[in-house]
Amino acid sequence: MTLQQRQEQENSRTHSVATHCPYCAFQCGMLLGGSPQQPWIEGDRRFQVNKGGLCLKGWTAPETLAHAERLRTPLKRQPDGRLLPVSWDEALESVVHFIQATQQRYGKEAVGVFGSGALTNEEAYLLGKFARLALNTSQIDYNGRFCMSSAAEAMNRAFGLDRGLPFPLEDLAQAEVILLVGSNIAETMPPLMQYLDRQQRAGGLLITVDPRQSLTARSGQRHLRLTPGSDAALANGLLHILIRDGLIDEEYITRRTNNFAAARAMAAAYWPERVERLTGVPEQDLTAVAHLLAQARSAIILTGRGAEQQRQGVTNVLAYINVALALGLVGKPGSGFGSLTGQGNGQGGREHGQKANQLPGYRRIDDPAARAYLAHVWGINAEELPGPGRSAYEMLSSLGTPNGVRCLFVMGSNLVVSAPSALHIEERLAALDSLIVCDFFLSETARLATIVLPVTQWAEEEGTLTNLEGRVIHRRRVFQPPAGVWDEISVLCELARRLGKGQYFPFRSAREVFEELRRASAGGLADYAGITYEKIDAHQGVFWPCPSLEHPGTPRLFSDGFPTADGRARFHVTHYQGPGEEPDQDYPLYLSTGRILTHYQSGSQTRRIGQLQALSPEPLIEIHPTTARVHGLQEGDLALLSTRRASMQGRIKITEAIREDTLFVPFHWGDTQAVNRLTNPALDPISRMPEFKVCAARIERLTNPDA
Ligand code: SF4
Repeated sequence: MTLQQRQEQENSRTHSVATHCPYCAFQCGMLLGGSPQQPWIEGDRRFQVNKGGLCLKGWTAPETLAHAERLRTPLKRQPDGRLLPVSWDEALESVVHFIQATQQRYGKEAVGVFGSGALTNEEAYLLGKFARLALNTSQIDYNGRFCMSSAAEAMNRAFGLDRGLPFPLEDLAQAEVILLVGSNIAETMPPLMQYLDRQQRAGGLLITVDPRQSLTARSGQRHLRLTPGSDAALANGLLHILIRDGLIDEEYITRRTNNFAAARAMAAAYWPERVERLTGVPEQDLTAVAHLLAQARSAIILTGRGAEQQRQGVTNVLAYINVALALGLVGKPGSGFGSLTGQGNGQGGREHGQKANQLPGYRRIDDPAARAYLAHVWGINAEELPGPGRSAYEMLSSLGTPNGVRCLFVMGSNLVVSAPSALHIEERLAALDSLIVCDFFLSETARLATIVLPVTQWAEEEGTLTNLEGRVIHRRRVFQPPAGVWDEISVLCELARRLGKGQYFPFRSAREVFEELRRASAGGLADYAGITYEKIDAHQGVFWPCPSLEHPGTPRLFSDGFPTADGRARFHVTHYQGPGEEPDQDYPLYLSTGRILTHYQSGSQTRRIGQLQALSPEPLIEIHPTTARVHGLQEGDLALLSTRRASMQGRIKITEAIREDTLFVPFHWGDTQAVNRLTNPALDPISRMPEFKVCAARIERLTNPDA
């Protein structure tokens, strides 16, 4: 390095700004400086969550800022089908025209809004307000429905409150035993592994539950390689053994819970031999894990998408919560139950009103008191607020149908890659009268749009996000956005003004939106009333609920009671139903999907980063050596993977880390490489979460890829 280069680096370091990674819910702190063209980046050692750690995705994240494919001008679909640049004025006028024409012809509900767990709290809040107040439609939901809704529903039902981790991450390092279900942290959130490493260095045990022996499973001491879709049976089996062997915490159950008798009666039907048949997990392993959990002075049970993205995702999570309650773990220091949120703002994004059934502060939209309160904050009559709308997949399935949405406004979501049965969703999008997409790249979804609005990226905007612990953090602006790009708050406020509702959207900054969000959430379960940007900066984040300026925030929940009507947690009856599709003669294997180290979600950002794309240019189909032999497949072969919905092409990766009856494919690619074209849209009846994690599939060698 030359002296000049060293000097430039030092200048960048001196002038760097502390902000956060744009990707996952771990929200690593980073120092960012230099310029968008020549960014300088370092993990923020002072930020106590990641303590300086970043994964490959975080290190390379600034490459998206000055990327050649960055959208810098609005685009409009022309009569000849091409998407061509237009001015902001023309684009916004067209959006207003599409909205008004649709609502005049088909009614208010014919305009829908689709948000994202990537939006800041301010953007998510404003999007919910925009839908209800500027568009007067109930049709709003977001891609977090595909991520966190099962865990959220289960925690609400069992504890009266959903916060992914009801305790700080630091507790993980203190737990004697951690049972990690359906999550591959070592690839999805690598810096989080430092907590598990510390836990194990102190003598703690990590037990994983996963059909694959993932990188995370390999770092633990025990691994239960269950049959895909059998989580409820496995958890019920654990509960059965705990009861049978007198290992439950009777005093805790009596003092702090309800409905144990029903759970006990249910668990009686899950004797270990039966559970072994249902899950493939040997009886002695199940018994050993139940005893390890019970004997530990502190233990934590964590679930991830593996258990949650199923048509009985809520039941699965409730079954693991039953185990945690039976052991008296919840609310005890160093112990508990939690769910690992995935998307960057998957926690805050589900709290402040971009869900179909929700108003800010985790209020329910069908609760008259909540409606009256929000109407007061927004200066309208409660009758003007629409009621609950359709959930994400149901809204998307309604697109272009007689009583469905005809004009869709999408912010921050690439849903033709991330939605289940994605080909079906693509067909529905094509049936729309108009599709408006706000994005910074021409994603697979933006390519289908009538209007594309180019918006800012993470390092060009200010706002707050809420990480997987419930810690509200401050995303600081580092760079000015490129000319021609607007921030989402300005887009929403300007559209509202042109729709004649500008008086409700007077915001000139994220801070001003946050001030209203504080009032809107006050008194709700997710109470942000006492949180300010200054307080976040002074304390490295503030945990909600934080009801007043004097309040320090709440890192640990449930120590003294649960926010339920009687202050107790609730056991549930959680019978195993099995997945929507079981392997059969035509489709003899299970297919499961997930994330890998090098890419994030739909891949719209990470597939544009050279280093990441070079490492993982295409989806690999993981298959067991025995299964590969049976199907005549070898490492690197091109294969055709099919389900009842669609087919995709992918290369074969042979690994003993997967069960013989299961295939695994990451979901970060689009078009013919999109595994979500194949996944089953069967919905959980409570959370409306699609069953991404398990369906029936077949695989064959592809001799002629063009055919
Ligand atoms: Fe940290 Fe997640 Fe970003 Fe990786 S992707 S750097 S784990 S926030």
